[in-house]
Amino acid sequence: MNIFTKSLVAVAAMSTLLAAPVVAQDNGSIGIAMPTKSSARWISDGNAMVEQFQAAGYTTDLQYAEDDIPNQLAQIENMITKGVDVLVIAAIDGTTLSNVLENAAAAGVRVIAYDRLIRESGNVDYYATFDNFKVGVQQASSLVAGLEARFGEGPYNVELFGGSPDDNNAFFFYNGAMSVLDPLIEDGTIVIQSGQIGMDRVGTLRWDGAVAQSRMDNLLSAYYGDVDLHGALSPYDGLSIGILSSLKGVGYGSDGVEMPIVTGQDAEIPSIKSMLAGEQYSTVFKDTRTLAGVTVGMVNALLNGTEPEINDTTTYDNGVRVIPSFLLEPVSVDLSNWEEVLIGSGYYTLDQIQ
Ligand code: BGC
Repeated sequence: MNIFTKSLVAVAAMSTLLAAPVVAQDNGSIGIAMPTKSSARWISDGNAMVEQFQAAGYTTDLQYAEDDIPNQLAQIENMITKGVDVLVIAAIDGTTLSNVLENAAAAGVRVIAYDRLIRESGNVDYYATFDNFKVGVQQASSLVAGLEARFGEGPYNVELFGGSPDDNNAFFFYNGAMSVLDPLIEDGTIVIQSGQIGMDRVGTLRWDGAVAQSRMDNLLSAYYGDVDLHGALSPYDGLSIGILSSLKGVGYGSDGVEMPIVTGQDAEIPSIKSMLAGEQYSTVFKDTRTLAGVTVGMVNALLNGTEPEINDTTTYDNGVRVIPSFLLEPVSVDLSNWEEVLIGSGYYTLDQIQ
């Protein structure tokens, strides 16, 4: 909708205001493409965006692709055909959208990369996300603090898990974590018995918890017959739950065998419950309501021809150009602060956790 038709709509809205008690605003239509409903965080993202976009007078089309790339591409094509003004996309595979975004650009549709960077395309206007490197730093810092608290002085046996190699974020999480762990591996405080280091060796395609679980099974049987594992770097709660199942399966956490320190991300309810049961050690909370708010601000700016608030213009080079970004602050959560952070902020109610 251009400014002229927008003002016509505004005038029309004002004139009907006198006659009709309820006036639906029509500021534009937003296509929201989310990766999957299998993780609660994306459901929260979708709901928060629908709520906040609608409150700002937009119509929304929210679609989930169940981690199927052709499905997500078809959903986005369909949104373009239906004439959305802006696409907000959390990509499944950040490198697969170049063609569909050519079509978006040809149709005058603006694009926001949501949480995950869209790579190899010049047709991305802005990127709304968290400080993903810092997420990794927080995960590794919590791992180290947990190792010291539970196992005293090192050396500690640790295994590393990475996120999906087709998700740009996975590299930021991993690199952030390794900025903390590398010096400790070098000086022998942390020992990776399997020797498996590097995203090419520790990545977990599609963030699949079952894949992490079976990799942990294999690591335990190959390298931990005679020595105990003390910690696992996990970048996402869904992987942490799989890793913990594997650990429990061989007796960790019972009969005097300490549970290794396992990190996570997203503060999903099963992981908070697991923390309260003394299993998962920590997670990272990223408030999806705030991310939705930043995204609505970017859309307002795009459609009104103004500049949105940006706080990073150097970090996220998508292979074609650096995408202007807004990075939110992640919060490390463990037993010491979960209630204040998650209940205190109204993100969850106590009933949901108990
Ligand atoms: C998100 C994380 C999430 C992961 C798996 C990443 O891109 O930033 O919050 O844990 O995907 O869904």
